Amino acid sequence: MVKLIFYGGVNEIGGNKILLEDKRTRVFFDFGQSFTFGADYFTNWLAPRAVNGLGDYFAFDLLPKISGLYSEEMLASTNLPHVEPQFDAVFLSHAHFDHVTHIRFLDPKVPVYVGAGAKLLMESMEETSGLCKYGEHECRKFRTGNIIKVDDITVEPVHVDHSIPAAYGFIIHTSEGSLVYTGDLRMHGPRRDLTEDFMEKAKSCEPIALICEGTRMVEKEKRKNYSESQVKQLSNEVVSSTDNMVFAMRYSRDLDRFRSFYSVAKKNGRKIVVSPKTAYLLCKLLDDEHLDLPNPLKDEAILVYYKRKKSGGFDEKDYYPWERKFMDKMVTHKFVHENQSKLVMDLDFYQFAELIDIKPKQGSQFIHSMSEPFSEEDIEDQVMHNWIDYFRMHFHQLHASGHLNKDQIVELIMCVQPKRVFPVHTENQQLFKEHFSKAQLIEYGKEYVL
Ligand SMILES: [Zn+2]
Repeated sequence: MVKLIFYGGVNEIGGNKILLEDKRTRVFFDFGQSFTFGADYFTNWLAPRAVNGLGDYFAFDLLPKISGLYSEEMLASTNLPHVEPQFDAVFLSHAHFDHVTHIRFLDPKVPVYVGAGAKLLMESMEETSGLCKYGEHECRKFRTGNIIKVDDITVEPVHVDHSIPAAYGFIIHTSEGSLVYTGDLRMHGPRRDLTEDFMEKAKSCEPIALICEGTRMVEKEKRKNYSESQVKQLSNEVVSSTDNMVFAMRYSRDLDRFRSFYSVAKKNGRKIVVSPKTAYLLCKLLDDEHLDLPNPLKDEAILVYYKRKKSGGFDEKDYYPWERKFMDKMVTHKFVHENQSKLVMDLDFYQFAELIDIKPKQGSQFIHSMSEPFSEEDIEDQVMHNWIDYFRMHFHQLHASGHLNKDQIVELIMCVQPKRVFPVHTENQQLFKEHFSKAQLIEYGKEYVL
């Protein structure tokens, strides 16, 4: 008998924790944290205490109390006794927060299967962020084409296009037939071909079930969304029509977006200025020959922006050891101020104070290349606009989502033709039902027999 149980991603965006059981085999697909996780009890700096392991999470039933899953250390201050692992593997679809964060609670003996490129992205996060810890695991890396046998099931990871490199969907062969899990995916990115490959493979296995993401399964989409090539083209229009500074704000690990701005900058005879963190990530990803990203240490079109820290004098000792690697490529606020017509600069929201030093000329351009805010009362969005107005910059909203839109979700399901559909990673399960009578609306922790 094959069973599915959903411990996350149920009526919420992200936080996927999908348990598949086939006879004695028990495997999780993704183990992330949703974007609204724990929001009833925790906000900003009021956060679960690291020292209390799973204690603060169990106090509010934020994570399932499952025996044989978590590490001894994380269970120490809870009343769930630690026992030997009763799970055979956790497969991660990609390195986004909402799919991987909670692996830090897992017993280190449970093997974690992760895409080779996704592993590099996760290492880079741990090495450059004091707050990001995934814990110790026996990591087993995969690529498309690998066939991974875990006791009674066989898992085939297949690449998909998403807003982070090394994203996968899975085809899972069980004793009752094949299942397909989409992970997160899109069709309007630069690697539509990857998603098409996945759909072909998914279709050919005549799946008994499709676990399908539905981030953009909404009645009517209010937020503006472009394709990646439109973002590139519209950004090029912004850059080519100004002699002023251009700032771009994007998700730090969206390397497709980095490539778009990098090529727009080069096309217009400008250089791109990135943070040491981005330079570090680019270096790290050179180890993945499939990604074909520029080397920030060698590429003349890439400069690295150093903020004033500690001494204020750009002394090597002011910076973390991992940041020092790029000091030969260092530019400061003074350089940026003096070369505004020759640069496109990555600027993260939390680095806005640099604008005070850079002093961009009135009429500079600001490209917001991220999702529009979910609510009109978004405080960060208001603050961002206050800064942009203060410095008299022109604002542009140019973003391509990492997810299929509603029509594309329908297209994917029509193409794959599964016997049943389980909607995850969505706030609108009922919309799946409207389109597919075979959609099974899921409840947290409930068993679904296939
Ligand atoms: Zn996601």
